[in-house]
Amino acid sequence: MKFLITAGPTREALDPVRYISNRSSGKMGYAIAAAAAENGHEVVLVSGPVSLPVPQNVICCPVTTAEDMLKAVQSNVDWCDVLVMAAAVADWRPKQVADRKWKKRLGPPQIEWEMTPDILSVVSKIKKTNQVFWGFAAETTNVREEALAKLHDKKLDAIVMNDVSRHDVGFEVDDNQITILFSSGAEIPLPKMSKMDCARHLVEKIAAENKNKKN
Ligand code: C5P
Repeated sequence: MKFLITAGPTREALDPVRYISNRSSGKMGYAIAAAAAENGHEVVLVSGPVSLPVPQNVICCPVTTAEDMLKAVQSNVDWCDVLVMAAAVADWRPKQVADRKWKKRLGPPQIEWEMTPDILSVVSKIKKTNQVFWGFAAETTNVREEALAKLHDKKLDAIVMNDVSRHDVGFEVDDNQITILFSSGAEIPLPKMSKMDCARHLVEKIAAENKNKKN
């Protein structure tokens, strides 16, 4: 199978030396890429700025902004059987990027924000019936409700839900505790385990779902 996976944060410039981003380390997305390649799948990994080595037998396409990530996903989505959006895409960006460094003596800048493109919503419009699209919902409050809303709004086959308010799992650390919510209403809660083990479970479930779609 052909896997297109996104990982890591995106970075949106404020001025030539500053940016807004988030705490995503890329570990979960990189683990999924490694697990898929380990199982003999073809993998293209679209990665935001992270400090992780590219897993063996994975083609990496490095990007910085949400707009770059959208373009890289659009260029590869037709090729893939499976899209896994594990990236923590920045939700907003400054409407205008200052061309010079803001001077501290002028005080905090007034920033006008605009939404970044929602990559899943854009590509779900061109999704083929035999393709499988999975997303991630990293939430701190109303975790289940928020995840279910994203599953439906972004027209996903499944969403991987995790609570990022916890310190022992989620952002930056090596462990995760996830629940997979399917559009069919089925759900699979998994115990706390390493991100690599989570990734192996996810790849196995995705492969099973892809097989079902083809039959
Ligand atoms: O940021 P949000 O909680 O909406 O992310 C849910 C899912 O949507 C994730 O899989 C994420 O990669 C994806 N996403 C996206 N484009 C965005 C923001 C999020 O595809 N601009």
